[in-house]
Amino acid sequence: MTTQEGVRLCVCGCGAPVKDRYAQGHDTRVKGWFTKVKNGKMTQAELAATGIISAAYAQCVIHEAALEEHRRKAAERERELVESLTARREFWERCARAAGDGDR
Ligand SMILES: [Zn+2]
Repeated sequence: MTTQEGVRLCVCGCGAPVKDRYAQGHDTRVKGWFTKVKNGKMTQAELAATGIISAAYAQCVIHEAALEEHRRKAAERERELVESLTARREFWERCARAAGDGDR
């Protein structure tokens, strides 16, 4: 949020001028609201209706959280894939060594 004078204001709506998005500790407050929205204890419309943050911003942050979860799962899958490929390569290397030994 930015005033007409170009002063950034804390996203939580407390009106404090800030350098980043939040005044110190206020991100926790905002994240608490998002948690409520995610858990269905508050709707995005209710959050937006407070006028504190826009529905678009609320959606954006929720999306960011979902994206984070997606990235975490993707990293996990990648690790599993690397492990299985490593195991497979070791298997083939063992086979190749065994075959090589047989030739001698
Ligand atoms: Zn604030």
